[in-house]
Amino acid sequence: MKTISRRRFLQAGALSVAALGTARAPVFGQARHRVIVIGGGWGGATAAKYLRLTDPSIDVTLLEPNKEFISCPFSNLVLAGVESLKNLTMNYDGLRRHGVRLRHELAAAIEPDKKRVRVGKDWLDYDRLIVSPGIDFQWEQVDGLSQARDKVLHAWKAGPQTVQLAQQLQALPDGGVVVMTVPLVAYRCPPGPYERASMIGWFLKTKKPKSKLIVLDANKDIVSKTGLFKAVFKEYEANIDYRPSQKAEKIDVGAKEITTETGDKVKYDVVNVIPPQRAGAIAVDADLVGGDKRWCEVDHVTYESVKQKNIHVVGDATIGLPVPKSGNVANAMGKICATAVVQLLNGKEVPQIAPGNTCYSWVSDKEAIAVVNAYKIDNGKVVQIEQKLTPGKSVGTAQNSLAWRASIWNDVLG
Ligand SMILES: Cc1cc2nc3c(=O)[nH]c(=O)nc-3n(C[C@H](O)[C@H](O)[C@H](O)COP(=O)(O)OP(=O)(O)OC[C@H]3O[C@@H](n4cnc5c(N)ncnc54)[C@H](O)[C@@H]3O)c2cc1C
Repeated sequence: MKTISRRRFLQAGALSVAALGTARAPVFGQARHRVIVIGGGWGGATAAKYLRLTDPSIDVTLLEPNKEFISCPFSNLVLAGVESLKNLTMNYDGLRRHGVRLRHELAAAIEPDKKRVRVGKDWLDYDRLIVSPGIDFQWEQVDGLSQARDKVLHAWKAGPQTVQLAQQLQALPDGGVVVMTVPLVAYRCPPGPYERASMIGWFLKTKKPKSKLIVLDANKDIVSKTGLFKAVFKEYEANIDYRPSQKAEKIDVGAKEITTETGDKVKYDVVNVIPPQRAGAIAVDADLVGGDKRWCEVDHVTYESVKQKNIHVVGDATIGLPVPKSGNVANAMGKICATAVVQLLNGKEVPQIAPGNTCYSWVSDKEAIAVVNAYKIDNGKVVQIEQKLTPGKSVGTAQNSLAWRASIWNDVLG
């Protein structure tokens, strides 16, 4: 088994420092604690890695059907032709080097009472389970979408659909109409749709100036970095038509038309429907979600489910914390949860650590805007203490985002 030096351990990240006292070598003959992690995205991959870094005696199995990790952050740039999906695609070799057992399979079921997870025909036992399945789509919320789901692109899980949507935009005749829909909050990445609108707006302005993007937003206003995105949309106003309070109710792929809640019918040449969302199916099936049947409530310090003991949930599948559903937050939750799980397995007190969030949004081929949020734990709950926005778009902020991505990708997978 691979061990790490104290120096490398300290370099691995400030959050794991809290758990230094619990790191221990496996003792011969002693039963190893078993932790299963479901989902090798931003939250789950981080949790699996940091469990091993914090306590190398733990047997960590990560279940993730995909052989490669594709970053949603920066995938909006692919749509505008300024980034390639290849640059956003990484492997899981780093996690293997940390001693994480990877199984590229779906977790099919969880039995909380028996503390086991079904994978194919196998049942895997755990002492603690960490669930980070991200989001699934509520197709049924838009009339006609369930039947047309293979034809109507969401591109909200980076992958083949991202490339297909980029190709459709490239093929759009100048003068064509692109329609994108934004669901009501809560959904993955609050600023993501507006970053996407900005990047498509920039693309149309520079490559197809007679074309238009119509944004049908179910929300009353832009839900994140509001003033900053408004300034960008104003700059691209010849190519972006932003329409708030226009929830998409129906799609007719034959007529290439979306009907909104106000009865407006909007024709398109290219469409991008971002459907309403809920926690990944496995979390719903295991009854980890609350009364709304959408999101998982967790303890703000340990990330243990309020509904099922010994099961922790991190990432986009959670709700109830005043933090956005972001990769940055999922990564922070993964580390905090790994620390908590190690402490709990060793019968020790769990340190109170709040996540943080830095979020960049690109708005052209060279410029970005950003927001930073700081949080603390107050009476066992995460509360926001500060928020700072960049004054406007800048090349410097875009450059900073490239440093951010190199650093966080390494933290998740390296
Ligand atoms: C266009 C776009 C842009 C974004 N930009 C940013 C950004 O700039 N900055 C930022 O911080 N965030 C950004 N985000 C948000 C970020 O991608 C998510 O918040 C992050 O991916 C959440 O991590 P997660 O672990 O919860 O889910 P994911 O990263 O989606 O990981 C979930 C994993 O679980 C796996 N899984 C699901 N069910 C099972 C099962 N039953 N068994 C096994 N595995 C399973 C899936 O295959 C998946 O790999 C963006 C998102 C989008 C869509």
